Amino acid sequence: MSHTAPEYALAARSTAVDGPNPSTRPVRITPTLSIGGREIVVAAGPCSVEGYEMLLSSAHHIRNSGAALLRGGAFKPRTSPYAFQGLGEEGLLLLAAVREQTGMPIVTEVMDTRQVRRVAQVADLLQVGARNMQNFPLLAELGRAGKPVLLKRGASARISELLLAAEYVMANGNDRVILCERGIRTFETITRNTLDISAIPVLKRETHLPVIVDPSHSGGRADLVLPLALAAIAAGADGLIVEVHPDPITALSDADQQLTFAQFTELMHSVALIAAATRRSIHSYTPPAAAPADGIATQPTLVPRDARRRTAAVA
Ligand code: PEP
Ligand code: MN
Repeated sequence: MSHTAPEYALAARSTAVDGPNPSTRPVRITPTLSIGGREIVVAAGPCSVEGYEMLLSSAHHIRNSGAALLRGGAFKPRTSPYAFQGLGEEGLLLLAAVREQTGMPIVTEVMDTRQVRRVAQVADLLQVGARNMQNFPLLAELGRAGKPVLLKRGASARISELLLAAEYVMANGNDRVILCERGIRTFETITRNTLDISAIPVLKRETHLPVIVDPSHSGGRADLVLPLALAAIAAGADGLIVEVHPDPITALSDADQQLTFAQFTELMHSVALIAAATRRSIHSYTPPAAAPADGIATQPTLVPRDARRRTAAVA
């Protein structure tokens, strides 16, 4: 990569920015939440939105443990067309209802240009999954979406390709891009993917974009999430996105890698210790000004029917 004339001109590191974390420009998600500053931001929640109660209990738990964003897929990119594909529009309604109930900002995946406008109505942060990192029409559409974008690295993508994908979003008018290292495909089969720890300092050095890490899809195993998360924070990541489920063994997708509530609470305690060692802290959820003191609205105006548990095989 050339340091004088990067192909990714807009994502390139700005030498003009100075401070404790000189190359990163924070990306605003909501008026009270930015990613890429001194505070580490943790997004957490189920792989897939499966129903109202499971999403609401997840939101309450992760918020009480210090997460700042709720994750959950309504549109799921599954390797097999026969695996659970997500609840789609119903999942978006559930996300909107839980957002209204708890005030927690939402990060959820958008897979297709035709979904961008609708998903952007619900999401505070639009996720591009690893399989879509080089879906160029989607990236261009997200340039016009008016919401920040969480761009996950493709499983076989080079760092330079990730940065050029970010460039597509930025060149189309949206400079609020956050990069996510989520593990890459290697010869190793014991883990689902191999977390590329070195990508974190490289991305921080090459660009001004915030970098977060997904330790759930990296290892693909619940027992690896804690060590990978701690390594990510120690290596300078600006945040994490972690899969958490009220009853992981029954999850309709990614059952092997989702943490229980108790495991997530433990993870947050350990992350706070590593954050402190790197002179950072955790950004906890801040209720919007209009919400009651505990940040929970009294009644949601929209409570969709609880989604039926699907019997689809867990892949
Ligand atoms: C996810 O976040 O649920 C997901 C599908 O991740 P990835 O695109 O990294 O595989
Ligand atoms: Mn998943």
